[in-house]
Amino acid sequence: VKRSKSAKDTRVIAIINQKGGVGKSTTAVNLSAALGEMNRKTLLVDFDPQGNSTSGLGVEKEGLEQCVYDALLNDVPIEELIQDTESKKVFVVPATIQLAGAEVELVSAMARETRLKEALEPIKDEFDFIFIDCPPSLGLLTINALTAADSVLIPIQCEYYALEGVTKLLESMKMVKGRLNKKLDTFGVLLTMFDSRTSLSNQVVEEVKNYFGDTTFKTLIPRTVKLSEAPSYGMPVTEYAPNNKGAKAYMSLAKEVISRA
Ligand code: ADP
Repeated sequence: VKRSKSAKDTRVIAIINQKGGVGKSTTAVNLSAALGEMNRKTLLVDFDPQGNSTSGLGVEKEGLEQCVYDALLNDVPIEELIQDTESKKVFVVPATIQLAGAEVELVSAMARETRLKEALEPIKDEFDFIFIDCPPSLGLLTINALTAADSVLIPIQCEYYALEGVTKLLESMKMVKGRLNKKLDTFGVLLTMFDSRTSLSNQVVEEVKNYFGDTTFKTLIPRTVKLSEAPSYGMPVTEYAPNNKGAKAYMSLAKEVISRA
């Protein structure tokens, strides 16, 4: 990874929601790719043992000897783990299933909450954006992500009980803010899998806007088959189906993200 001279304004954003299947990895992959298209150098740290962000950006997990686990628990410099993608502007620190063990192994480790933060420190300035795709839990991996991040992006699926669990998530953030990371704040709340034809989707949008106000991104991510197909080709939707409404939505989100940053 080449050093760029614009060293200062890196944004480290954790993509977090302890519910699974709400669109965290889809957002991590496609927002990173969209920012890359807009010439922003972006690093995606895959912090979910499922490794969907890794494969979604076209990196094959099978061939990897090391992953983000080694930065956390084996003192491997994170720089050595960074993988290229098809986009010259987008990079990924991969996760493999080995990361699943970290949740338990971190418990007895020294400085267990700050390991990711420390790992990112030496490379942080080389990127415009660093995203951390969190696992679906509020365990030590997520605490590491919240400690390393400047802010969080919360994807919320337009489904029944959309806001369920959000209080718990905000409590975890508050705890980390109080003890480990004073600057942590909410970068934005993103509505995913929106279907304009259903009144449920529209109700959820209202509900979330009432709860989070202007923190909610104006861009809604539509439910579209192309977004669910793209990962099986190892491509972001902006590459797989650039004219699809899902690709356009993530480009529009990237614009909002740049203007907020
Ligand atoms: P998480 O990372 O929160 O577990 P994912 O991003 O993996 O969630 O999404 C869960 C599933 O929903 C995946 O199969 C994904 O392809 C699909 N999906 C996510 N967003 C969309 C969308 N906007 N339209 C259609 N399918 C989607």
